[in-house]
Amino acid sequence: MPTLGTTPKYSFIIPIYNEEESIAELYRRLTDVLEVLDGPSEIILVNDGSRDSSLEMMRQLHHRDRRIVYLSLARNFGHQIAVTAGLNFARGEAVIILDADLQDPPELVYSMIAEWQNGYQVVYAQRIQRHQESWFKRLMAYVFYRVLDRLANVRIPKDTGDFCLMDRVIVDLLNRMPERSRYIRGLRAWLGFKQTAVRFERPPRFAGEVKYTFKKSLALAINSLVAFSVLPLRLFNLSGFVCREYGDCHGFFSAVLADCQTRFAADWASDDHDCHLFLGRVQLVSIGILGEYIGRIYEEVKGRPLYTLSEVGGLENVAPQVQRRNAYSQIT
Ligand code: UDP
Ligand code: MG
Repeated sequence: MPTLGTTPKYSFIIPIYNEEESIAELYRRLTDVLEVLDGPSEIILVNDGSRDSSLEMMRQLHHRDRRIVYLSLARNFGHQIAVTAGLNFARGEAVIILDADLQDPPELVYSMIAEWQNGYQVVYAQRIQRHQESWFKRLMAYVFYRVLDRLANVRIPKDTGDFCLMDRVIVDLLNRMPERSRYIRGLRAWLGFKQTAVRFERPPRFAGEVKYTFKKSLALAINSLVAFSVLPLRLFNLSGFVCREYGDCHGFFSAVLADCQTRFAADWASDDHDCHLFLGRVQLVSIGILGEYIGRIYEEVKGRPLYTLSEVGGLENVAPQVQRRNAYSQIT
């Protein structure tokens, strides 16, 4: 039975939400990769509140292969939080994050490790092509990454996901960032250090349905914009300025035309009505944008833990105080 040395060199973090159809193949492909790595590895499977047999499969894998650690979140907290939980527990010198559906090919890890050994602290995978994803999803992703690139106050590489290798230094720093609106690829870029890309063609899902629903993807996109840019707030100033200038001009011409009973004056009055509707819309949108920021401040000040764990397997080799510190690091 493969066992884990006390200090793994590599940690693999895999968030899992209803992936029972992919787990066996993922395990097969990943363990083939582990066999040829130059040090011991651990695989941290994070169950993000799956409702299928994923958790049971993780337990079985753990009993078969002691390199497997599993964490079970007490409900579905979302992909970014599941990855965060994995990062809190990972012990490797290099930590690799990958999806369970094999869209992040485990074999790419060889190139990532080579770059890490060349001295890069972050090696992220950059998609040059996405296979079998709907045109809508590809279009949304294309637009989103370019808008984010314009707005964000830090350069977040385009067409990258969370699939990456991070050095221990980066993981320790990420673990000290307490924010709950987490956009890991943004936080990773924010940290700086030496970062590079390995490019790959993203294959289709091995099996099952996409777990990132449109709603979840939209929430992640809004989170990333709000977390990495205050430009939307600055737009208030701009719209205020434009409206004031327009109002001044409009007021002047209204006064001039008030005396003239011309058809032009009637058109001007209806234009006035449209103008009020437009202003109302600008104000509502502005309040909405402001609400996004205030809502996040509210979430942060509540100070709740990022996640709760209902079950952990495979941390027997870790000193109890370390286990406890990790498990509660987000609570205290
Ligand atoms: N996932 C998760 N929690 C969620 C949604 C997704 O842990 O609430 C996991 C999922 O099991 C997969 C990864 O996140 O391992 C990426 O999900 P998906 O393949 O649906 O996203 P996409 O590849 O379409 O971006
Ligand atoms: Mg996927």
